[in-house]
Amino acid sequence: MNFHIITIFPEMFDSYLKESIIGRAIKNKKISIKFYNPRDFIKAPKNNYKPVDDKPYGGGPGMVMRAEPILKAVESIKIKNKKSKIIIFSPSGKKFDTVYAKNSAKKYTDIVLISGRYEGIDARVQKILKAQDLSIGDYVLTGGELPAMILIDSIARQIPGVLGKYESLEEERVSSSEVYTRPEVLKYKGKNYKVPKVLLSGNHKKIDEWRKGGK
Ligand code: SAH
Repeated sequence: MNFHIITIFPEMFDSYLKESIIGRAIKNKKISIKFYNPRDFIKAPKNNYKPVDDKPYGGGPGMVMRAEPILKAVESIKIKNKKSKIIIFSPSGKKFDTVYAKNSAKKYTDIVLISGRYEGIDARVQKILKAQDLSIGDYVLTGGELPAMILIDSIARQIPGVLGKYESLEEERVSSSEVYTRPEVLKYKGKNYKVPKVLLSGNHKKIDEWRKGGK
């Protein structure tokens, strides 16, 4: 899976994508990540410099990301086959979830992620590119960079070989949000906190039942 990220802040991704499972997936070539900065697509002849953003039509505070630098950045992406999808992050878009992540991992070889900033992106970009408006939740962030990282993380872990055997997909096995490790009895401020007995029983049928919600 190749992720193509359109962002004016590519450095924001550095440490997250370098570490742990995602870092390993990039090293092992299970996924690739490329950046395209709209600022690099601004023609800046003398005295005619245009920023990536401009004032909103209709008035109001905040700036809007201009369409042209983003469209040029998208045009510059080299995608070999047609199994690609263009996503624009927006708090009012379709809600992203595990089903969307799973389907995307199966269907596409290339995903273009357009991260907005300020008041958002000129709406004509979505119309021209027939892009999917996607929201990661009902709250407003300052930009689309965190949403892009969330999407990459959740799609990457659906790709075969990305998770190691110790981390294998919890959707495919009986897992629990309540997990424990050593010590068996945790002493904290004069109190003892024990691991649920069933987990120490060695009875896997009972353990699975407990993990399914029998607790
Ligand atoms: N004025 C816009 C919000 C802009 S927030 C509105 O009311 O819709 C700035 C950018 O952050 C957006 O363009 C989007 O790319 C990103 N963003 C903010 N919250 C988001 C969310 N919940 N899901 C996905 N992207 C989000």
